[in-house]
Formats: sequence, structure tokens, C-alpha cells
Amino acid sequence: MQAVDSEQLGVQANQLLASPLAIIDLETTGGHAHLDRITEIAVIEVDAGVITNVWQTLVNPHTGIPPTIQSLTGITNAMVADAPSFATLAPDLLERLTNRIVIAHNVRFDYGFLKAAFAQAGLTYQARTLCTVRLSRALYPASPRHNLDTLIARHQLQCPARHRALGDAQVLWQFLQCALSEQGHRAVDAAVRAQLKQPSLPPALDRAQIDAIPDAPGVYFFYGDNDTPLYIGKSIHLRSRVLSHFSADLRSSREMQIARAVRRVDWIRTAGELGALLKEAQLVKTHLPIFNRQLRRTGTLTSIVLNPREDSTNTRVAPHAHRTVQLHIEDLAKPLDHSGAIRYGLFRSKRTALNTLRTLADTHQLCLQTLGLEQSNTNGACFRHQIQRCAGVCAGKESAIAHDTRLRLALSAMQFVRWPWPGPIGIREQDQTTEHEEMHVIDQWCYLGTATDDTELQTLLQRRQLSMRFDPDQYKLLVRYLTPARRARVIDLHEHAQQAQAA
Ligand SMILES: [Zn+2]
Repeated sequence: MQAVDSEQLGVQANQLLASPLAIIDLETTGGHAHLDRITEIAVIEVDAGVITNVWQTLVNPHTGIPPTIQSLTGITNAMVADAPSFATLAPDLLERLTNRIVIAHNVRFDYGFLKAAFAQAGLTYQARTLCTVRLSRALYPASPRHNLDTLIARHQLQCPARHRALGDAQVLWQFLQCALSEQGHRAVDAAVRAQLKQPSLPPALDRAQIDAIPDAPGVYFFYGDNDTPLYIGKSIHLRSRVLSHFSADLRSSREMQIARAVRRVDWIRTAGELGALLKEAQLVKTHLPIFNRQLRRTGTLTSIVLNPREDSTNTRVAPHAHRTVQLHIEDLAKPLDHSGAIRYGLFRSKRTALNTLRTLADTHQLCLQTLGLEQSNTNGACFRHQIQRCAGVCAGKESAIAHDTRLRLALSAMQFVRWPWPGPIGIREQDQTTEHEEMHVIDQWCYLGTATDDTELQTLLQRRQLSMRFDPDQYKLLVRYLTPARRARVIDLHEHAQQAQAA
């Protein structure tokens, strides 16, 4: 359950790099944001931990650059004479920086200059900022100095053009990567979190409405304009989870999009975690919210089916042509048939299934020709046997039974778990605080619904044949939930179901 949880909670391995970033550096005519002017800007855009754009420009300050600064940066009056003014660049720059966390060395300086310059151009600019001086101080407390030259020396960073905007911004990007590898993601994230302020609730949401959400298990819904479903999630702590979408210190761009678009929050309380998991998987597929990517997937499901042994001992077929394995395409809409065939894996496409089989064949020296994945050779031995990729069942060097046994072993880890009950089952779940009890009704790994009393249970069982719909996500979570260690409270409903059918 652990892996699913962290994925669904949106916890990224590296929260800093998961957010859209703008690493910036400015060169100016002096140190005063309102009196001095910008002469050069560099922006390195980082998305999901990768540089997606590098942008730099000289800026005409429409004032003289003091000689000391000209000699420090190498940016002369002549160089900026033909450069665009900030007002010309402002709209493009604003778009570039929107929704990005601005990172700079002594960010107050750069951010102050940007805000003032945008204001002079008649534009409002606001951003969340992160200072690499403060980050360095937090992560390398033993180091007495944290200016850029110290960082370059301490971490052996490469600066192609010191005191030029892009050169210095590149150093900051290197420093971030260095800090992540030296101090680890956890330490960097903690330092970043400490620096960034908590954002407030999205304006459309009412605090009282959020406060009314119970901090209990359940499913929550975010709706956008016109009540469009945006996102469905589950948690065993509904309110905290909902709040974490908005108050996470560092949000992914998807989280930010959700926070911007959300207009209304709704929820369904469940007795426990399983009910929340099942409902979430089911509701995502019926509501198709825009931001649920994982659970939305539907379509044809493929699994590898191993035919019963009798087929391959059919004497009318030449021995090397025996197909012991056959790919079977299964329709998600229909419940799985359980006609003796052993099924392996649940693949999203036939190609994935075939690739998996080919990899297995190479690892275990199985014969693709015998498996029916390659055309058979008239003289028996397959090409892969000649290059020692096939142990030689095709050349009579191994018996078909031995090959079959090795195949079954190779596949065993992927074996589809057979439904172990004679009919439907109920899984009981009880709310820890209210003692309210629910029964989730499952048949052939298909979730039929949740009953809170006998009448509801009868209805679910009577409609069983109509509502059986195999869902790989539900199958996986049920297999995990029904491992003995979880001690699920399972009730066999086989007889119940027969009575309901007869009624
Ligand atoms: Zn072979």
C-alpha cells in the first residue's frame, strides 16, 4: 500500500525540483532598487527538475553605468546603448516568470529590482521567492561565508562568466544540484520549506466549508467552473489531505493548476481505507476528472494465457510447432472468464505483453518459435538457438515438458491471482470513531458496491451479473488488501447470493 499512498498523496521524491522554477540573476547600475536600473537579465526556467529554457538579454538602463560597475561586470554603456528598454521586455518577461518560484542569490535584491521595474512599466509582479544565500546558510552551517565566490570555491562550480547575469545564474543551478546530491532531498526540501511561506486557500473556497470536512477516511472531489470535475482523491484523513493540496510548501505545477481552478469541494465519508480506495477508483472512471491521470486509464487489457497441457501434446501437430503460450486480448468491460486457463500479467497493450515475453525468453533461454512468437523453421532449430539464446527445445536438446516447466517458472511471478472463493464475498470495515459499519461486496475481483444494511446487500447481490466490471486498479488494490497480513474481515456470500438470485 505504501507505494500507492505516496504517489496518490502527490509526494514527490524531490519537491523543490518538482515545482516550476525560475533561476534568475540581474546586473544593475547600482544597489538601490528604486534609483538604479537593470542592465542585464538572465532567466533559467526549470520544469520537473530539467532546464526547459535559458533566456538572457541586455537592458538599456537609460542612464550611465558607473565605471566601477562597468569594470566589475564588463557591461559598458556602449553595450547597452542599443539594447531594449525594460518596458519593452516587461510583458514577455512577466509571462516567463508567472507561476514560477524565483530563485536568486540574495533574492531580495533581484526580486526588489524586478518588482520596481515592473511597477514602472505599469505591471504588477508577485512571486514566491527562494534565496540561495539562505539555503546555503541552512545547509552548510559550518561554512562562515555564503557569497557566490565562496559557493564556487566550496563546491568547485563552473562559472563561464562571473558577474554576468547568465554566468551567475548557471552557478546557482549547479549549486542546487550539488546541495541535493550532498545533503539529500529531505534536507534540501526541509530548508526550502522553512523559507517559503504557506500559501492561503484558493480565493473561491470558503474556510468554513473546508473546516466542515471530517478528518476521517473518504473520497473528496474538486470541482471547477460549471461544476466540472477537476480531481478526485482519497485519504484516511480527508480534511488534512484536502488542505495539503493548497498549503503544501512546494507544489507541483499540477497542484498549482488545481488550486487555481478549484471552485467547490465535496466529499463522501467511508468507514475505512478500503472503502475510500474502491470508491476513488470507481468514481474516477465514471467522472473522468481532468487531473486524475493514473486511475483514468481504461481500455483493452491483455494478459498472457497458458493453454492447458492437453493442447500441446496433440500428436497431429509437428512437435516444434506446439504453441504452449497464446496471447489473449481481454475486454475490460467483461468479467474475466475462469475456464481453466492460467493467466499471467495485466498488460495495457498486446505489445507490452509481447515485449515482456521476449525479455523473459532471453533471460531464461526459452524458444520463441515453440512459443509461437516466431515463425517456425522447417529444419527445427530456431535462429536464437544458434546464437545461444534458446536452450534448444526446437532442436530436440530439451524436452517439451522441461521447456514448459521452465516457462511456467519464469512466468510464475506474474501469475494472475485466481479468485479463491466459490462466489461473491463481503469485506467488513468499521469506522474507528463512529463504529459505523460498511460491507464492500466483491465478486471475481469486481467491486459491486458497498452495503450498509441487509436490503442494500440483497440489491447488490441481485444485480451482481449486471454490475460485474473488471477493473485492473481495483484488482490490484484488492489483491494487496486481501493478503493474510491485513486480516481483512471477509464474509463468504456464496449462499446468500444464490438465495438472492432465487428470490
Ligand atoms: Zn528454439
